[in-house]
Amino acid sequence: MRLSGPKISTRSTPAPGQSLQHGEITIAYQPILRGGSIAIMCYFLFDLVTRLAFPGESHHGVMVLAVSFAALTSISVRLYLCRTRSAGQLEVAGSILCLSLFANSNLQQVLYFQDENLLYSVLMMPIFAALLPSRRTIAVATLLCFASLVILVQSNIPARMSDYIWIGFSGIAAGVAISLILRNAVLNSVKARLDAIRDRETAEALAAETRHLAECDALTNLPNRRSFFTELESRLERLRRHGEPFVLGLVDLDGFKPVNDTYGHAAGDEMLKQVAERLRTVAGDTAMPARLGGDEFALIASAPCTRSETVLQLGHRIEAQLSRPYELGEYTCKGSGSVGLLICNDPDLSTHDVMERADHALYFAKRALQGKAVLFNAALEHEMMASSQVDKALRRCNYETEFTVKFQPQYDLIKSRVIGFEALARWDSPELGTVSPDVFIQAAERAGMIRPLTQVLLTKALTAMKDWPDDLTLSFNLSAHDLMSPQAMESVLQTVRDSGLPTKRIEFEITETAMMSDFNQARRAIDQISKAGHSVALDDFGVGYSSLQYLQQLPVSKLKIDRSFVSQMLEDSSSFKIVRTMLSLSQTLGLGCVIEGVETEAQMHILRTLGARHVQGYLIGEPMTADAVLPHLSSPLKIGRPRPDICPPGLRKARA
Ligand code: C2E
Ligand code: MG
Ligand code: MG
Repeated sequence: MRLSGPKISTRSTPAPGQSLQHGEITIAYQPILRGGSIAIMCYFLFDLVTRLAFPGESHHGVMVLAVSFAALTSISVRLYLCRTRSAGQLEVAGSILCLSLFANSNLQQVLYFQDENLLYSVLMMPIFAALLPSRRTIAVATLLCFASLVILVQSNIPARMSDYIWIGFSGIAAGVAISLILRNAVLNSVKARLDAIRDRETAEALAAETRHLAECDALTNLPNRRSFFTELESRLERLRRHGEPFVLGLVDLDGFKPVNDTYGHAAGDEMLKQVAERLRTVAGDTAMPARLGGDEFALIASAPCTRSETVLQLGHRIEAQLSRPYELGEYTCKGSGSVGLLICNDPDLSTHDVMERADHALYFAKRALQGKAVLFNAALEHEMMASSQVDKALRRCNYETEFTVKFQPQYDLIKSRVIGFEALARWDSPELGTVSPDVFIQAAERAGMIRPLTQVLLTKALTAMKDWPDDLTLSFNLSAHDLMSPQAMESVLQTVRDSGLPTKRIEFEITETAMMSDFNQARRAIDQISKAGHSVALDDFGVGYSSLQYLQQLPVSKLKIDRSFVSQMLEDSSSFKIVRTMLSLSQTLGLGCVIEGVETEAQMHILRTLGARHVQGYLIGEPMTADAVLPHLSSPLKIGRPRPDICPPGLRKARA
């Protein structure tokens, strides 16, 4: 299942122009030698049958024995050549065949000389030249034939020596010619074969390399997005055909962008490589890890672990691996990854469906349990269906008519009056009814529709603000997505300029999550806002995990302490201490501070004792329509005097 690097053949083939190996040529002789052995075998068998059928020749018994031995030898050589033999073995086999011919012919002549049989000695020269694979054996065999011819002529018909010398030379010439022609033909065919092999190997290596490039991520060497989806589709096909379930996991690194921004891209790349290595370790042989892009990874695991507990164990193993420290050159960095898991056992689901479910589990893991694994379940399915309905309704809706802005007052405890309003978006969908901004803002971000929505809401808020007294400010919430595009920011600022309202009366609220996605771009956007004359407030302060770092580096002028701390301030001593610390932090840094979510007089009084100045919450006023703003300003706020029995948990002990 794992994809690996291209396999480039290690077979050595000569490069063009390089001389052919001796072994390759000799091996090419095997078919010739095999054919020769059959011919020689037939010759000896025929000779044997003839001798047995027509006996009478002197030395008949000796010759029958010799021919039988030669026939057996040629049969053995033929059988021996059935399998592919090495160059040396072919040389020996060829020599044995030739020797049996040579010995037989000469034995016949020695026992019973016939001058017409001398031609055999001559004929054998080209035959040996054709059969033998190497030059040295051809030379030896030809010389032997010539020598035997000379000896036989000298011993039997010396008067005709000069004739036979010339006939012998002709035999040698024929042998040389045949050996050259054959050698050339073999040489060319071997060369062509080697060229073909080399071309095929080059083509295969190139194809493997191209495949590798197309299927693997260059940085981490993991299968890339494309091969991940190919594998996913084939797994779904197997699920449909054979009912084989599998596990799909999506992994997203937490806080990878800050690592990239702070330590540089080389460190970021190194971190991604280490993540890939750790995923490989977890995956072992039973799962396929892949990099989908950026800091997103995925995993497809085989069937044996489709029980919920086992799947979660897999997720926990990934969590554990990813939360080990990363050695990035001179830095050591902490990290973690959120994991969304899905057991794919429903054959009716498409690739898009399974990705959507795993992605939702990942989204939940990121939102609620950063650095943890979440397995998709029925509750998440319900949530996902609801949000997909929101997505669909959002795509069809009319921003102008369905969206409105409400205004929530912000109160100055020293001046005892409202100093401004926060604009809060509302959506009354004809299909879904009232949808909470927590839901539709995220949906608009997901669907890439937040920028036009921001424009509509800002225009509505600015239009309403024109009726307000000049000393009131407007706080407007920006999405992380607004900050990520300089063009979007420019059109936000242009909308304010077009309204003709003084820029210092309009403040923008941004959340820490906006910083986390791309810190550098967020900082540029905040600079852009500040240069235009607006102040910037850091919303929901205290909820994120690296607030102080951001505070140091960003030109924000105000903190908004999240309402979750205020709501528990009276019951929970640590919430109380957090509010107290954040208030004194804002004072130390010279920043303004708004406490959100003040609902009771008791909370208000304690905040007053802690030195809080600006508050916002239902006690002062709930978000109201634009029409209700002016009447609200003219009705004085009635807040009772501090009651001595109201005391935060931290102080109770001290008083006791
Ligand atoms: P936020 O900016 O922190 O807004 C304050 C939220 O707290 C508002 O919820 C408000 O109605 C609620 N709230 C105020 N006082 C109290 C209180 O005393 N008790 C309680 N329990 N809640 C109180 P809302 O209107 O539901 O908005 C939720 C979030 O949606 C906002 O949080 C903000 O992050 C986002 N949002 C709202 N309007 C917009 C907008 O126009 N654009 C963008 N990008 N985000 C918006
Ligand atoms: Mg806000
Ligand atoms: Mg807030």
